Amino acid sequence: MFMRYIQRLPLRIRFLLGAGAILVPMMVLSVAGYVLFTKVAGTTDASIEEVRDQLLPVARLQTLLQRAAMPPNDWLIHGNPREQTDFAAISKNIDQVFVELLGSPIAEAEKTGHIAQARENWHAAKTQAATLFDLSYPIADMAAAADKMEAYDTTIDAATEHLDKVYVLVQEELAEQHAQVHLIKRWIQALIFGAFLFSALLVFFGALILSRTIIQPIHTLDDSAALIGAGELNHRVPINSDDELGRLARTFNEMAGKLEQLAIRDGLTGLYNKREFDRRLHEELERARRNGRPFALLMIDADYFKKINDDYGHLAGDRVLRKLANLLSQGVRPVDHAARYGGEEFAIILPETSTKEANKTAERLRRAVQMQEIVLDGDRRIRITVSIGLAGYPRDAASAKALVAAADEAMYAAKAGGRNLVRQFVATTSEPSAAYGTG
Ligand code: GH3
Ligand code: MG
Ligand code: MG
Repeated sequence: MFMRYIQRLPLRIRFLLGAGAILVPMMVLSVAGYVLFTKVAGTTDASIEEVRDQLLPVARLQTLLQRAAMPPNDWLIHGNPREQTDFAAISKNIDQVFVELLGSPIAEAEKTGHIAQARENWHAAKTQAATLFDLSYPIADMAAAADKMEAYDTTIDAATEHLDKVYVLVQEELAEQHAQVHLIKRWIQALIFGAFLFSALLVFFGALILSRTIIQPIHTLDDSAALIGAGELNHRVPINSDDELGRLARTFNEMAGKLEQLAIRDGLTGLYNKREFDRRLHEELERARRNGRPFALLMIDADYFKKINDDYGHLAGDRVLRKLANLLSQGVRPVDHAARYGGEEFAIILPETSTKEANKTAERLRRAVQMQEIVLDGDRRIRITVSIGLAGYPRDAASAKALVAAADEAMYAAKAGGRNLVRQFVATTSEPSAAYGTG
């Protein structure tokens, strides 16, 4: 059903479909692969950028906060006024980074929350640092100052811890993204494998279809051409498709048919030619030998034919020959083989026929020819007659050659008897004129 449909498509379309079918999965694979790959690459690039943008200021903040812990401490120990200006500078830096971080659009709620809390801690720590710097040096109540210093350190630590939480959150995000990238990688692998399987399947079926609908018919054509070339002119190509190859096969068969006709038919009358007559005679002889059945041969010669050519011209003679051939082939059974043996001489093989039955057939033919008026150009009407010789196998001869000779001899006896006669071969060595019975 499917093959029938395929065979109706022109070969060009079939090749295009085949190539397309193989290309489609490749194209799907490249497009899908490209899209997925771009997505993975995009996600990875974005996350790297985000991490860099978020973590760099966080790391800076943590370093600054560590540095901010030092000046109040050193103030309590050494009382160097430079510590205050150092702290102010660090403090300004920290405030700036906080503004940057909280103002960036990337930071999401949870991270922003921790950063905001770290800033609150930082503001508290700044107030605590201010009270520490307010103490005049040397410190009177060192124990109370140490307590304040400890409280200040705790607040700074709290801010640092909130910033640590931002790291943890980013790490979690990274893990999630990694899982996503891994999933996409799996998808790409599955896609490549699927496309490969699909392509392999298509290639397999494509090759099968091309082989069934193109290569096999070409082999069949090739074999048929070889057979016909070797002389088996009745062989035909068994291809019935509607495609180019089917048309080629039909043309080929028509050609073989014409060749066969040319090889076995006589060009003027359309009857079998002498060569085909010989072949069929041998075939019939073999069959008769196998079956043990008789068959008969008629040799038929037109009477005074030369005179027709002389009186009416060669073309008129041809016309008479065609008419005669027509009468003879119409007057016998479809199983009989009528052939043009020579110029105005015909032969008819009558399979499975006794000489008695053959005699009746011959007589009927003779009379039919005699009765038939033949119309020539210019509306001239003529009649002709034939002389018929008859011989039967196995009664009169044991070989094809001997059978033809016997029928020929009987035909000459009919001529000798006055023409327009049927004569049957009679085997005898004495008195030739008595050797032939009348039909
Ligand atoms: P008979 O009664 O003894 O057979 O006399 P006949 O004239 O028929 O015998 P003959 O063999 O002398 O002449 C046969 C003639 O048939 C001679 C030849 O020109 C003619 N003939 C042979 N083949 C053709 C042909 O194909 N076309 C035409 N028009 N004439 C042919
Ligand atoms: Mg003749
Ligand atoms: Mg003759």
